Formats: sequence, C-alpha cells, structure tokens
Amino acid sequence: MSNSAAITGAGPALVAKLAKLGLYDDTDLLLHLPLRYEDETRITLIRDAIPGEEVQFELEVVSTEIAFRPRRQLLCHVRDNSGTLLLRFLNFYPSQQKALQPGAVLRAFGEVRGGFFGTELIHPRFHVLRGEEPLPQTLTPVYSTVAGVGQATLRKLIGSALKRATLDDTLPDALRASMPNKLQPFSASICALHLPPHAQSADEISIALQPYWQRICFDELLAQQLSLRRAYAARRTRGAPQLIAKNNLTKKLRAGLPFTLTKAQQKAWQEIADDLAQPYPMQRLLQGDVGSGKTIVAALAMLQAAENGYQAALMAPTEILAEQHYHKLRSWLDPLGLPIAWLSGSLKKKQKAEMAKLIATGDAMLVVGTHALIEDDVVFSMLGLTIVDEQHRFGVRQRLALKQKGGARRAVPGEPSPNRRGSESTLRAWGGNAAPHQLTMSATPIPRTLAMSYYADLDVSVLDELPPGRTPVVTKLLTEGKRDQVINRVRGACSAGRQAYWVCPLVEESETLQLKTAEETYAHLTTDMPDLRIGLVHGRLRGEQKAAVMAAFTRGEIQVLVATTVIEVGVDVPNASLMVIEHAERFGLAQLHQLRGRIGRGAAASVCILLYASPLSPAARQRLKVIYENADGFEIARRDLELRGPGEFIGARQSGMPLLRYATLDDPKMIDTVRETADLMLRDYPHHAERHLQRWMAGRENLLKA
Ligand code: ADP
Ligand code: MG
Repeated sequence: MSNSAAITGAGPALVAKLAKLGLYDDTDLLLHLPLRYEDETRITLIRDAIPGEEVQFELEVVSTEIAFRPRRQLLCHVRDNSGTLLLRFLNFYPSQQKALQPGAVLRAFGEVRGGFFGTELIHPRFHVLRGEEPLPQTLTPVYSTVAGVGQATLRKLIGSALKRATLDDTLPDALRASMPNKLQPFSASICALHLPPHAQSADEISIALQPYWQRICFDELLAQQLSLRRAYAARRTRGAPQLIAKNNLTKKLRAGLPFTLTKAQQKAWQEIADDLAQPYPMQRLLQGDVGSGKTIVAALAMLQAAENGYQAALMAPTEILAEQHYHKLRSWLDPLGLPIAWLSGSLKKKQKAEMAKLIATGDAMLVVGTHALIEDDVVFSMLGLTIVDEQHRFGVRQRLALKQKGGARRAVPGEPSPNRRGSESTLRAWGGNAAPHQLTMSATPIPRTLAMSYYADLDVSVLDELPPGRTPVVTKLLTEGKRDQVINRVRGACSAGRQAYWVCPLVEESETLQLKTAEETYAHLTTDMPDLRIGLVHGRLRGEQKAAVMAAFTRGEIQVLVATTVIEVGVDVPNASLMVIEHAERFGLAQLHQLRGRIGRGAAASVCILLYASPLSPAARQRLKVIYENADGFEIARRDLELRGPGEFIGARQSGMPLLRYATLDDPKMIDTVRETADLMLRDYPHHAERHLQRWMAGRENLLKA
C-alpha cells in the first residue's frame, strides 16, 4: 500500500499524519470520500441565521480582544448590515489574532448559538477576503481528518490526485451493462462525489449523489467478495485426504444414540460427509443456535476421519467447554471402543507429554482440547480434520495454527511411515501442499447478509431447527429491588429437584473486581439460602478446580451455581431450569442469548430472570427489549447487527477482513449481484479482478490467507 508512488507535494510531517488516515498514495486519496457537504455558495445575514444550522456569513471586524475569564480566549466582535455577532476562539494562533484586525472583511462558516457572551460562533472556519472573491458554485466537501490536517489541505491534495489519476473502470463494460440496476461509471462517481454538481441544497445533493454512492458501495463490496472468493478458490487447489464415508463407525454411533438426528442435523451432516470425501480441504462453517445439536454432527465428522485412518481434532475456547465435549464424546464413543486424547493447559507436564506422544504416534485418533492443541510441541501423525467450536472466540491466527498442524506430518526417509492405518495411495494423493479438512462451528447466528459478505470464503451449513421436546424459556425482566422474590424462586426450583444458575454482574474494566463481585455474590447467596448447596465457578479457578465444580453441578450435588460468564458457551446441564442474570443491562445481546441458552435444555419449563438496575440507558433498554421479545437466535443476531453495525458485530481483527467503509449490509439483492459478479470476474476477467483488488485492497488482504 505504501508504495513508492507516495503522495505528491506532501512533506514528511504531513505524510505521517496522512498515514494515520490510511492515505498513502493517490488511490487512497481518491477513495477518501466526503463525509458530508457544506453550502458555501451563498451568504446568510446574521439576522436570518437559525441556531443549530451551519451557514456562511460575510462579516466586518469591529474589534478583537483577548479575554481571561472564564478562561483565556480570543473574542472578535463582527457585524454585517443586519446585526452583530461574536466570534469566539478557545485555542488560537497569534496569526489568527493578527488577521482579525478591525476593518477586515471575512467569510466565516459555522453555527450560531446563544452563549455566555451573547449570540456567537464558536471556532468558525474563516478566511479574510482580499478584494473581490466570487462565491463557489458547488457545495464544499468535508472529509474525515486528523488534527493538523485541514480541510483545505485535503481538498487540495485530492484535487491534484484527481487530475493525475487514471480512473479506469475495473468493472468490465459487458458485466456492467448486464446488471439489473444500471451502475454509474467509476470515474463519474469519484468525480461527482469529490466535486459535487452545481449548487444545490444539502437534501437535493444527497438525492443527486445517490447513484454515485451506489457505485462506490458496489465496488467496495466487490473487492471484499473478490478477495474472499479468491482465497476460497486458492484453498481448493490444495490437496486433502479423501475421507470417504465408510459408514461403519458413524453408523454404529448413530445406532447407539438415545435420539435420532433432526432434519437439519441430517442435512448438515450429509453436506459435511460429502465435503470430507473431496480431494481438497473442506472449509465449512456449521452454524446453529445454542442447543441445536452441533456436537453430535462434529462427532460424526470425526468418526468419518477415523474410519479412513486419519486423526481428527476438536478445539474449544474454554476449558469447561472442552472438558464437557470430552465427556460427551466419551459417553458416545466408549461403547465403540475408540479412545480419545484430552489436552488442556491445566494438565500436569507429565500427563501432557504422554498425551502429546499418543497424538504424535497416531495411537490417539480423536483429540479434544483447548488452545493447548496448537502449542508447538503438539505434533499430529495424520491430522485429517480440524474442528473449531465457537469459532468466534478464537482469533484468526489461532484458527490458522490448528489448520497448519496438518502440515506437521514429517515423513522421515528410511523410517516407517507414521501412518499405520491409512493406505499408501491416500498418502501420496495428499501431497506436500496439503491441508486438513476444516469445520468451524458457531452458535452466534450470523445474519444472512453478513454471512454472504464477511464469510464468503466459507461454505455454510445451518441448523435451523432445535431438537424436539424443548420447552421454550420464559424470560422475565425485574428491577434489582425484587431480589427477595428471585431468591424465593430459586428455592422453589431447587425444592422441586431442579437446579439454577446465578450469573454475576459483568465488570469489564477489571478482572480483579469481577472476581471480587463473584465472591461477594456467592457469600450473599450462601447467607440468604443456607439450606441449599451452592457452588462458585469463575475464570480464576485452576482447571481442575473448575472441572470439579462443573462435575458436581452436572451430578446435581451443587444446586445453585454462581458463575461468571465462563459458563457462557456450550455448558450443557439439562436439569438446570432457572437462570438469574444480575445487571443484565451490562451484557451484550449475543452474550445474553448464549447465557439463556444454558437452560431450556430439558423437559421442564425454564425461566430466565434478567435483573437490571435503573435507570437504563437507551441502548441497554433496547437490548433488554430485544432479548425479552425474541427467542430465535437469528432474529436476535439481526437486531444486534442493526444496533451495532458489522464492525462491532464480528470485529475486524477477528474476521481478518478489513471493515467496509461505505457499504452497508442492508441490501441482500445487491450482495447477491456482487457475489455473482465476483465469481464471473475471477473466471473471465482476471486482470480486471486484479486491478480492482489493487485499487481497493492494496496490502490489506494478507490476513485472509488464513
Ligand atoms: P449446541 O449446538 O449448542 O452445541 P449441543 O450439541 O450441546 O448443542 O446439543 C444440545 C443438547 O441436545 C445435548 O444434550 C445433545 O445431546 C442434545 N441433542 C442433540 N441432537 C439431538 C437430537 N436430534 N434430539 C434430541 N437431543 C439432541
Ligand atoms: Mg456447542
């Protein structure tokens, strides 16, 4: 991005500041589009100015002074032939003071308000007129900027970049012509947005510029699709072991289950089984709301790898969840006589070394664990499939690291092949640039438009149905004051043989404070309910302590589990039918939905009580309303996207994808068209595609290689 074609006419100090804006060359300048426009095409009289509206005045300076109360500031009294006004500058340069000589004539742009000193303009943008100066004919663009880079400087730099640049169209004419909504040419769009057409009001201009913005948004989405689809295609050129469905282990597992798969599970499983049989790596996301039954689908996939003599690894983001997966898999697979290796950070060094050995020799075909799986000293013998649960909890690099374990198989010449089960031909076909199949799972439902844009490099299977026999969770909103009532409910549930979660308030600023809050909550509840068996689990406990508490809760020995958000993902204790969340207003929507998903897993009617402290901020009120009114994770996610925007929703660092600057995701039809166009361009117009990516993404693509 910061290539040699640096910005012409900018000194080193300016270059450094422009870099903060992400502006390194002419192309960056051209794509730095205005935030809004100001109308300097006309002069407003002081008398006619409406407070709160930005307008331009032509003013004569009457007097200028420095005041020291209430603080040091520059005051400049001005007038036109309709009235008088005060210009007030809290920060100013001596040069400004000098320019504001009595008798000087200025053009000033700003918003009048009634202030301490009378009607005033605070920090107006102004310049002194030297003789006749015609008014501009067009609206003035206003750009986002940083301290020390003025609007005039940006306008000048962009203006000269516009003169130099070649604004060739990277969208082939043939494709543009065939589109349902005719798109404007790129060059016309860039010019119109920087140099808007003739003097019009702000409203008129926004209508006039609409088609040009549309083209820019299209281009931006196109760049995103091109880079993701290209990464997708590139991964397809890599080899992977063909894990053919042999249906011996998988069939046995299914026969032994106490339930049958839902339609959605069957469909997803079929898609995954087909992917695994391909000679290139699967890149699939299995998406399904909390409780939709992703784990069994993962287990089946792992068995299909094992049937072919390949290892499968399942990685989970927390120790509690990994441990639970381990137990679940064992309950399903022990009857089949399949051993499972378990690896987590809290294992003793010696145990860890033993596990690592089993993994390295290939004696362990199925491996479950936490981040510990991606440590350097863990080497797989024949890794054919990686599964990452709750993928959004991992960073891009961690997901990448697990995938790369597939390349860790080093066949040493002269030594027997580490693979004792796989056939020689599979091995050869797998080849040097091979990668394991990859399945990621997420319980954060991703709204369709978001999945189509940010996840365009993945195939997606969706579990859009919950297993039968679940009773919907009833959600109640109560103010903090009703705590006694809540305690009674907890007692009621426990005396009926049920269990409850009590989720402690989130303290984001400090982990220590969070821990303190959890311990205090535990102490209070133990005092309030001395007759009940209460446990506490939080992030600071050591692995085995955590595991012991969870196991006691699973066995029913603990009736009320006081917990921090460590229980947010995955935890599955069907007998728990009541959840209390304290200070629910501090949690995000996805978090509340995940937490609530811990209950309603058995046959009993479940209740989730959200305690909140008033007064609520408008945003918190919105969130609580959404969670109160909706049970469907997809709907909640859609509302969350609406409330927060994609940036916060997925997090740029996590997705590895630069965020969209101009395009929004509210037009599924547009995204469809963009996707089709991207695939066509990659196939038929590779040079256009390359040029388009250069223009929009130069250097910003690297994280996508993951
Ligand atoms: P999640 O998608 O949130 O990871 P889990 O895999 O933990 O969901 O499944 C939730 C619960 O539903 C588990 O107890 C699991 O054994 C059970 N389950 C999964 N599939 C079915 C099914 N088809 N019928 C009945 N229960 C099922
Ligand atoms: Mg799960």
